[in-house]
Amino acid sequence: MTDRPRVVIAGAGPAGLFAADLLAAAGAAVTVYDRMPSPARKLLLAGRGGLNLTHSEPRQAFLSRYPDLPSQVRGAIDAFPPSALRAFAAALGQPTLVGSSGRVFPEAFKASPLLRAWLARLAGLGVTLRSQHRLVGFADDGRLVFEGPEGRVVPPHDVALLALGGASWPRMGSDGAWSVILAKRGVPVRPLVASNSGIDIAWSAGFAERFAGTPLKAIALSFGKNAVRGEAMVTATGLEGGAIYALSAALRDAVAAGGASLTVDLKPDVSVADLAARLGRARSGDSLSNVLKKQAGLAPVAAAILREGTGGPPVREPARLAAAIKSLVLPVAAMRPLERAISSAGGIDRSALSDTFEISGHPGLFAAGEMLDWDAPTGGYLLQATFATAAAAARGMAARLGLTLPEAPSQDW
Ligand SMILES: Cc1cc2nc3c(=O)[nH]c(=O)nc-3n(C[C@H](O)[C@H](O)[C@H](O)COP(=O)(O)OP(=O)(O)OC[C@H]3O[C@@H](n4cnc5c(N)ncnc54)[C@H](O)[C@@H]3O)c2cc1C
Repeated sequence: MTDRPRVVIAGAGPAGLFAADLLAAAGAAVTVYDRMPSPARKLLLAGRGGLNLTHSEPRQAFLSRYPDLPSQVRGAIDAFPPSALRAFAAALGQPTLVGSSGRVFPEAFKASPLLRAWLARLAGLGVTLRSQHRLVGFADDGRLVFEGPEGRVVPPHDVALLALGGASWPRMGSDGAWSVILAKRGVPVRPLVASNSGIDIAWSAGFAERFAGTPLKAIALSFGKNAVRGEAMVTATGLEGGAIYALSAALRDAVAAGGASLTVDLKPDVSVADLAARLGRARSGDSLSNVLKKQAGLAPVAAAILREGTGGPPVREPARLAAAIKSLVLPVAAMRPLERAISSAGGIDRSALSDTFEISGHPGLFAAGEMLDWDAPTGGYLLQATFATAAAAARGMAARLGLTLPEAPSQDW
């Protein structure tokens, strides 16, 4: 038996592990339950893309990336800003660097060394990890009920944290099934919908076969009032990647309301007039492919997508061809499903949360991470808010337990 305060955490993703880390360091006896055989699978998946931990831009620009940011999440990020997350990684032997886009990555560009060091530190702090235990509900007295290999487990606790993630990539563990459990407990939960998701476009079979996996570089995309520069990846069913994700919230709403078309500028650094003039200098005997390559400087994938968008060989007349290259319209057939999105929007409604993410009407029950109702584009904003909300929840839990949390490693913006 321990006389240390007991903390139960459901979910061993970054939010759950970070709260466990802070509370165990403050003296709590922490047990983390997760339904998967091993922890933090989605964090490891994020590591495949280099693990974009956070972003280096100044505070105001940083916070403006979160649409309709709940005040509690804003306060949490202010108290645990990007510099604190970078210091956390460095303390685990994973110093970070700032990429040319301002994004912050561990120097190793992956998650596995960071996670290994982190799990070792948690073990040293006495944190118990119990894998293959799924949260299935609440006991009448409010305790969390898990189903594990040994059957039902209802661990005693003084405070509890829900850190069960969103609903994208359910194969990694977070399947959003908690939303039904919480709704039954009377906690307001906004529907979980895909965020940062790719789009489906009805490519011709030949295009999909030849170009799936090819990046479409240095383009500009626009939809309605939203415009973004960057790159996108051609997939067998459409397009994905940072520039698409940045528009995905607006596209999602429009697709749900009946339909949307994406406008692609394949030469964003050249004006229509200059491009038309260049195209006009082509020799009359040149093939269209050669004109697109030599005069317009289009890569094969860009020239092919132009044909997809115009429904056949584009008109060669320079002004019309330039206009097509600069504003190619691609109808969006559908959004990629939630299972394939980078993240989900929706979750526990802000109206039910204190500044430290304690759920109103459920004293001692806290929540953190992607299961809260905030949304963010890719660029490191997802993990930053995940860690920051976990730090705030840990602060609230510590206060309930009469513990003092260690100071955040750094609070400069
Ligand atoms: C392909 C991909 C790439 C990404 N890249 C980046 C990136 O570079 N930068 C960035 O900022 N973000 C990135 N993200 C998003 C980021 O990984 C998530 O926002 C983050 O992992 C959320 O952390 P979390 O702890 O809230 O939830 P999760 O990491 O989803 O963890 C939740 C945990 O809860 C467990 N769980 C769920 N339900 C139950 C249950 N009923 N009982 C018990 N356990 C349960 C799950 O098994 C899981 O371990 C990426 C996501 C994906 C899919």
